[in-house]
Amino acid sequence: MTTKTPCITPSAAMTEKHQCAGNTRPSGAWYRPSRCPRNGTLEHDGKWWCKQHHPPSVKERDEVKHAGWDADWAASDKARMEAKAAQAELERRSRAYDAVMEWALRPNAGNASGHVVVILETTK
Ligand SMILES: [Zn+2]
Repeated sequence: MTTKTPCITPSAAMTEKHQCAGNTRPSGAWYRPSRCPRNGTLEHDGKWWCKQHHPPSVKERDEVKHAGWDADWAASDKARMEAKAAQAELERRSRAYDAVMEWALRPNAGNASGHVVVILETTK
């Protein structure tokens, strides 16, 4: 006596082959997009997609890519800010040089100011 174990029918998803609903876009302006030849193994919105064209995966990859762009942008922005700050500091020191020189060369300046002039003018 054989009792049949209830057969769990694999969903159509598991047995049927589906072509990916995605399009391949050949490089070159004159080629029309053509249907992706791969089998669709991932379902999304009632369509089948290969790993490359599965919309949530595409979105995820894009987000990773964009996050990379954001990081690049933040890094270059930081470098720009630092370069700008360094330039501003150089300009400030240049003005400080003039101010100290003016102070050291004032009439009736003491002996120390002569040393300041020497330092300012001989520093390489
Ligand atoms: Zn595909």
